[in-house]
Amino acid sequence: MFNKVTIIGMGLIGSSLARIILKKRLAKTLIAADTSLDVCKKVHDLGLAHIVTDQLLQAVEDSDLVVLAVPVGAMKSVAERIAPALKDGAVVTDTGSVKMAVIEAIGPHCRPGVDFVPGHPIAGTEFSGPEAGFAELFENRWCVLTPLPDTSIRSVEKVTKLWEEAGAMIEIMDPAHHDLVLGITSHLPHLIAYTIVGTATELEDDIKSEVIKFSASGFRDFTRIAASDPVMWRDIFLNNKAAVLEVLQRFSEDLTALQKAIRQGNGDYLYDVFTKTRAIRKQIVQIGQAE
Ligand code: NAP
Repeated sequence: MFNKVTIIGMGLIGSSLARIILKKRLAKTLIAADTSLDVCKKVHDLGLAHIVTDQLLQAVEDSDLVVLAVPVGAMKSVAERIAPALKDGAVVTDTGSVKMAVIEAIGPHCRPGVDFVPGHPIAGTEFSGPEAGFAELFENRWCVLTPLPDTSIRSVEKVTKLWEEAGAMIEIMDPAHHDLVLGITSHLPHLIAYTIVGTATELEDDIKSEVIKFSASGFRDFTRIAASDPVMWRDIFLNNKAAVLEVLQRFSEDLTALQKAIRQGNGDYLYDVFTKTRAIRKQIVQIGQAE
């Protein structure tokens, strides 16, 4: 499919994609680049690319496709660094969880002749690093692409094919819309999980130990989400401020309504809300996105 592909950032997402590219022989040469020597060593030991390097500029020379899979806050500096070595006709794509801010970070560094196809695979785990990746990560998951008005259809097709080879389904979306949708489906739930687990860690020691002991009653499910990478999530909240604050406002209002219903003993209201939420779960199961 490609002559030369470079993946920059060999964590969970980058290394999963690398595994697929190697397994399915989608590129004659796959170059893995990461600024961390420790990550480079692990990638080398795991045999996840033909060439492994910490030299980002050399890594993209002559590449047909460059995938940026670094934390959202690092996208700008990486784009700046690699810009001079991108060849004419190269396609640059990214996997960042936020799209408007990433477009602002990478877009200006893609000169005419270099096409940028912003992307976001909606798949992940709470683990990070090259050992955490696996080739099945994107199977039956959505990958959202948010092409710019001047992105060529051919480049969008190339990136689409890559994600389809990874087993993903493609959705084309407006970047601002992406940020709002992900604000409610991903960013807000993470913020709530971080809050609940954070609150539990502030409790007195005797209660805290019981929270851990009896965690199977619900708390445990939040701890999985709250174990997600702190750098990645710090960057997501700092770079999707407007959408997160908007959905957080709505959430606070709904929480206040529930609080009032509990105080007033309004069981009908509680029953009504919990019945509607149960139906949402059913829909997710029906479309095969529950696991
Ligand atoms: P990760 O496992 O933490 O991997 C990120 C990798 O990038 C690490 O190896 C990191 O090295 C490296 N890195 C950091 N700054 C760099 C820089 N300036 N130049 C080169 N490499 C750099 O993260 P991930 O989960 O794969 O996420 C990667 C991207 O995909 C993020 O933008 C994230 O928002 C997005 N994404 C994540 C998920 C998910 O669930 N994890 C899902 C969809 C999309 P160090 O570890 O040494 O810093």
